[in-house]
Amino acid sequence: MRRVYLDYNATTPVDPEVIKAMLPFFTETYGNASSIHAAGQTARGGVEMARQSVAALIGAKPSEIVFTSGGTEADNLAILGVVAAMHREKKHVICSPIEHSAVRNSVQALEKQGVEVTWLPISKEGIVDPQDVRRALRPETVLITVMYANNEIGTIQPVAEIGKIAIEADVYFHTDAVQAVGKIPVDVNEIKCDFLALAAHKIYGPKGAGALYVRENSPLEPLLFGGTHERDRRPGTENVPGIVGLGKAAEIAREHLASDSGRITALRNRFEDGILSRVPESRVNGNRARRVPNTSNISFLCAAGESLVISFDLQGVQCSAGSACSSGAITPSPVLFAIGLPQDEAKSTVRFSLGRFTTGEDVDYAIEAASAVVNRLRDLAAARHKTVIPAD
Ligand SMILES: *Cc1c(COP(=O)(O)O)cnc(C)c1O
Repeated sequence: MRRVYLDYNATTPVDPEVIKAMLPFFTETYGNASSIHAAGQTARGGVEMARQSVAALIGAKPSEIVFTSGGTEADNLAILGVVAAMHREKKHVICSPIEHSAVRNSVQALEKQGVEVTWLPISKEGIVDPQDVRRALRPETVLITVMYANNEIGTIQPVAEIGKIAIEADVYFHTDAVQAVGKIPVDVNEIKCDFLALAAHKIYGPKGAGALYVRENSPLEPLLFGGTHERDRRPGTENVPGIVGLGKAAEIAREHLASDSGRITALRNRFEDGILSRVPESRVNGNRARRVPNTSNISFLCAAGESLVISFDLQGVQCSAGSACSSGAITPSPVLFAIGLPQDEAKSTVRFSLGRFTTGEDVDYAIEAASAVVNRLRDLAAARHKTVIPAD
C-alpha cells in the first residue's frame, strides 16, 4: 500500500542533509562544548555556527538566540521567564485563545499563581484583531503572547501590528513561531517581538532541539538552575548534535523558503479543490487567504475525527484529528471551539499538512482516499441509523 504522510505540522522527516551534518557530532566530534581542549572547541564551533544560521533565518543577532529542548521549552521560558523577571511591577498577560498548549498551559499556570490574564476574542476565520489587543492593555500588562501561525488551521496572525502596539505600550511581546518559521519569511525586526519560539523538528531537523529568540536587554529569569550556558538563560550541557541539526535545518529552510512555499501552496490548493469537488459537504476551516502554505483543516460532517484518522491510516494516508477523545467523550479542539465551529463540524474535522517531500501523486492519492473513506463512513452511519429505527 502507498503511504502518504500529510502530518508535517505534527513533525517533519529529518532532511538527509541535516542527518549528514549531525553525524560527526555523535562520533568523532563528541566533545563537551564547554571544554577548553580541542574536542570541546570543535563542538563549540558547531554550536556557534548553528546559532548564526538560526539567527540569519529570523533576522536576529546570534547573541539573541538561546537553544532549548524544543518549542515547548522556548514558549515556557519566554512566558514564565519574563513574567518572573517583572512580577514585582506588573501582573497582567494578554493571550490569544488559539495558542498551542505549550503557550496556553504556561499562561494558565501563571493564572493559577494570581497573574491576571485577558483571553482575546478571535474571528470565525481564526484571526486576532489588533484593536482587541489594544483594548486589553492595562497599566500592569507585562506581556502579549500571540502565535505567528496556528498549528491546526494555519492562520497567520497580524503579528507586526501587534508588535507595534506592544512597543507603543511598552509591553513585552512573545510570538510562538514554530509553525511559521521555514514556511513564510519571519523577521524579528519586522514583527518587533521581544521573544520568538521555534522548533527543529517542525523544519526538517531533529526532535528535542529548539530555540528562543530573546531581544537584546529583554528581562528573562531562567526556568532551570545550573551552569552559565546560553548566557545564564538555559543551563545544562548543550545538545550539540541536536543544535547542529537545527542550524543545518535553518540554513536549508532559508535556501528553500521561496521555492518550497510556492510548490507547497500549489499542492495544497490542488488537494483542497479535489476534496471540495469530490466529497460533498466538506468545508475548509480558517482563513483561506491568510494561511501558511501547507495546512488544510477540513470538516467532513460524517464520523468523529479520530475514526476518520484511523480510516485514512488504513488507506495509507497519515493525518491528524481536530478533536481528541478523552475518557470516552469527544472534545473538540480549543482552536475549533474558539473559532465557533458547530460541535458536529468540529468533531468531524481532520488536519492535513503537507511538506517538502509531498508530491502531486501523494495529493491525488489522498483525494481518492478521502472520497472513499468519507463515503464509507457516511454509508455506515446511514445503515446504523436505519437499524435503530423501530420497525412497526
Ligand atoms: C509543535 C509546536 C510546539 C511545540 O514544539 P515542540 O518542539 O514539539 O516542543 C509549540 N507551538 C506550536 C505552534 C507547535 O506547532
